[in-house]
Amino acid sequence: MKRGFPISRRQFLAVAAAASAGTMLRTGYAGPMPTVDLGERPDQAPDVKVLNPYGRVPVSFVIDDSTCLVNMGHYCLPQFQEAWGNRKGRLEKPWRSWPREIPDSFVREFGEFCREQGVKGKYSLVPYPACVGWLDRCLPGWSRTELRASLKLVRDFMTSNWDIHPEMITHTRVMDIKTGRPLPQREDGSYWMENGGWDNGRSLDEIAGYIGYALQLIKNLDLPCEGFTTPGGFGNGGKSTLSQAAIQAIRGVLGAEIPHYFKYVVTNLKESTQPQVEHAKGIAGDAPECVVNVPTCTGDYLGIWDGSAPNPTDETIESHVSADFQSGRLAEVIRKGEPACFLTHWPGMYANGTGIAFRTFQGTVKRLNAGFRDRIRWMKLSEIARYWAAKELTAIAKTNGKVTLKAPFGTPGFTLELPVNIAAPVVKHGVSKTELKKVASTQQLSAGTWTETGVEGRIIVCFDIEKGVTTILTATN
Ligand SMILES: [Zn+2]
Repeated sequence: MKRGFPISRRQFLAVAAAASAGTMLRTGYAGPMPTVDLGERPDQAPDVKVLNPYGRVPVSFVIDDSTCLVNMGHYCLPQFQEAWGNRKGRLEKPWRSWPREIPDSFVREFGEFCREQGVKGKYSLVPYPACVGWLDRCLPGWSRTELRASLKLVRDFMTSNWDIHPEMITHTRVMDIKTGRPLPQREDGSYWMENGGWDNGRSLDEIAGYIGYALQLIKNLDLPCEGFTTPGGFGNGGKSTLSQAAIQAIRGVLGAEIPHYFKYVVTNLKESTQPQVEHAKGIAGDAPECVVNVPTCTGDYLGIWDGSAPNPTDETIESHVSADFQSGRLAEVIRKGEPACFLTHWPGMYANGTGIAFRTFQGTVKRLNAGFRDRIRWMKLSEIARYWAAKELTAIAKTNGKVTLKAPFGTPGFTLELPVNIAAPVVKHGVSKTELKKVASTQQLSAGTWTETGVEGRIIVCFDIEKGVTTILTATN
C-alpha cells in the first residue's frame, strides 16, 4: 500500500493526470527525509572524495506490497474500506472481480526479464498478508505444495538480485504479538491498522518488538534479510524512534551487520536522494553500529498500487526517462550523480493480469539501460546501504603522500578520488598488498584498478575495502 496516506493524493492525481492528456505524473508523495540523529562521524581529509561505487550511480527498483500468491489489492481493499470508510469513493472499487492470486508464473516472468537486464532491488514479502494466512505455516486457499513452491521460487530464484523485506506483519490490521490475533476494534469502532497511526507515542521497545516479530517470520522462512519496509505511514508517529528500533530489531533478530530500511520517497529535485546513515555509534571500536535509511526518488509512476488503474505506457516511460535521455525523474537524478531508486507496488505491476504496467516497466528499464548503461550500477538496497555506511563512516587521513583509511565496515568497489599523484598505487591491508591496475577511464573501473581524472595531481582508485585499517601508497614506498 502506498507510502503515506491510505490512498495517496499522488495516486488520485495520477488518475486525473492520466485522464487529461498531456500532463503526466510529476506529482509525488511528499516524503522528505526525516530529521534524525545521525550519530558519530569520523574525520575525513577534505580533499579526498568518496565517489559512487565503481564510479557509477547506484540504481535500484523497489517493490512494495508483494508476498507469496496473495493479491494484496484484492485482499487489502475490503479491510481498508472497513477501517477508513470509502474516503469519498476512492476505496469504492470492484475488488471482488479482481483475481485473488498473483501467480508464480508472473513472478518468474518478471524475474527473468530483470535478470536479462541486470535489474536489482528490493522485493517485499508480507509474512501474514492481509491476515489471509501465515507464509511460515499455512495459506488458506492454497495447498501446502503451492505455498512451498512459491517460497522456493523466492528463495532460489529471486534472492540473488533482490533483498527480501517484511512489510510489517499483515499490512492491514495491527497484531497483538503476544496472542497472534489482530487487535480488537477501538472504542470508536475503528481499527488499528499498520499503516494508520498505531505507532504514535509507542516506546522504542514496543516498536522494535513489533518489527522484530515481522523479521522473525521471514527468518522462519530461511530467507536472507537485513532490512524492512514500512507499510505506508508506519513509523510516522516517531521517525527517530523508528530508526533506532530498526537497529534494535534487525540486529537483535537477524544479526545483520548493517541494518537498513525503506520508508521515504524524495521527489523534490532540490532534495538529495542519498541514503541517510543514522544513529552511528562506536565507529572507531570493535562493535560499530548504524542503520541506513534508503529512499526512492519516485513515487509509484506505474499506476495505482492496487492494480485497478495502470498509467499509460508511453507517457509513464517518459516520466522516468525521456526518449532523448535528457529529462524524466531518473535521468535528472542520475545526472546529479545521486542514487536513483524507483518504486512500484506488486499488485500495480500485475495490474490484474492486463500486462500494461509490466510493459511500462520493461520499456523504462530498457530505456534506462540504453541511455545510461556505462554510468549506472544496479544494486540491491542492502548493497547501497553497505556502501553508504562505509562512505560516511570511514576515517580518512592524508600524510606524506599516503592515504590512511579506517573502515568500521567493508564494502566492494570502494572508490576514492585522491589529491595525490601516486604513480602505481598499492593498497595495503594487514599483510596483504595489492598493486592497482591502470585503466583508461572511469567507465572501466573495477575493484583493483585506478585511473587518471584528467586533473593534474588527482587520481581515482577503486578496490574492495575491508573492515579495519587500509593504506594507499606508491609501489616504491
Ligand atoms: Zn505497502
